[in-house]
Amino acid sequence: MLEVRDLTVNYGHFTALHGVGLNVNPGEIVVLLGANGAGKSTLFRTLSGLQKASGGSATWNGTPLTGGRPEYNVAHGVAQCPEGRLLFPDLSVEKNLRLGAFIHRKDAAGTARELERVYTLFPDLVKKRHAPAGSLSGGQQQMVAIARSLMARPQLLLLDEPSLGLAPLVVEQVFAAVQRVNEAGVSVLLAEQNAFAALGIAHRGYVLESGQVSLQGTQHELMTDDRVRSAYLGV
Ligand code: ATP
Repeated sequence: MLEVRDLTVNYGHFTALHGVGLNVNPGEIVVLLGANGAGKSTLFRTLSGLQKASGGSATWNGTPLTGGRPEYNVAHGVAQCPEGRLLFPDLSVEKNLRLGAFIHRKDAAGTARELERVYTLFPDLVKKRHAPAGSLSGGQQQMVAIARSLMARPQLLLLDEPSLGLAPLVVEQVFAAVQRVNEAGVSVLLAEQNAFAALGIAHRGYVLESGQVSLQGTQHELMTDDRVRSAYLGV
């Protein structure tokens, strides 16, 4: 279980997260809604060990994530799929995927098994495995980015804005893939501005505003909440 308690993150004198608290239970997809600048990426970077916390705690199954050592967090089951995908466009899809397994580089057999597993989850990537990642469509590149994170064999996937820049039909395909990943046993914390698509697959969610959790609830509670409907669902 991910347990975030009273987490505070400062950039110099600016406080980006003010005492954030949230949980992700095993097997859940939890969505984090929030406008640009609300602090979603800061929270993810902190949970990945890329950004130091100024106060509070974040643990995954009791393991502290705030030590500022990303490779430690990955080794303990927490992987991030960053906003903007950050693929290596000139490398083949398969080379990009293999880079995700860097932490398991001494386990070639395990990596080969994981590669087959991600190709089963993302069948469209099989025929593209030798193509440069940069030659794929935006939706396929997002699939590669998610698949690459899975190569680290995470129990918790931190998925930052997977719908960014994608057409609505493609967003649906990406979210269906996220659901398959979750059904395969990976818990997901999903930061999204596309609240409609994200709430479609999430079990629960939180709304982050100016670095604080302003609202939380089940999928149904958030979808029917007037504040969420007007601010994030445009109804
Ligand atoms: P976006 O969707 O645009 O990425 P976000 O919700 O992920 O937004 P963050 O990127 O976490 O928001 O930013 C939260 C706040 O912290 C913003 O006000 C941002 O300007 C500020 N911020 C982010 N990174 C830094 C930094 N390195 N130094 C100073 N301020 C920063």
